[in-house]
Amino acid sequence: MLENIRHKMIDRHGDMIKFADTWISDVSPMARLILEENKEIGRTLRVNSNHDIRFEIQEGEYRHMIDMTKKTCSCRLWQLRGIPCQHVVCALYHIGQEPKDYVEHWYKKDTFLSAFKYFLQPISNMVMWPDTNNPAVEPPEVKPCHDPGVHPIYNLAYLTPKGSHISP
Ligand SMILES: [Zn+2]
Repeated sequence: MLENIRHKMIDRHGDMIKFADTWISDVSPMARLILEENKEIGRTLRVNSNHDIRFEIQEGEYRHMIDMTKKTCSCRLWQLRGIPCQHVVCALYHIGQEPKDYVEHWYKKDTFLSAFKYFLQPISNMVMWPDTNNPAVEPPEVKPCHDPGVHPIYNLAYLTPKGSHISP
């Protein structure tokens, strides 16, 4: 069974590295899809800037506030996902920045590939392992319960210092 798990891990490892080759940008496909949707909506919103680092974004009857240095939007999607929400995208377009540059690093290709940079090494099977003269490893000897009338866990966990039982 452990051999099956090891083989599955090796296969999955290779699949993940091949998957990274299919990315058409530096950002993961899932994050890119969300960002593209936010870009579509962000283009339709109205922005008010204090010409510093804070913005007000009008979306229908709602108004969201953005702080670029704290990387926060009052809708909280930016903080939760690490992907600029439609309000942040609107603000970034207003100041001429590229929203893709504000996606958190954990969606980037380099981070993804660094998670798979160590490989499982091939090993021979048990038939080919050398014999040893050491004694075989046996399971530990089972000791009888202290008080056969009491469940073993109560014997261990609920003993008072004098050795009498208390109710759990
Ligand atoms: Zn937002």
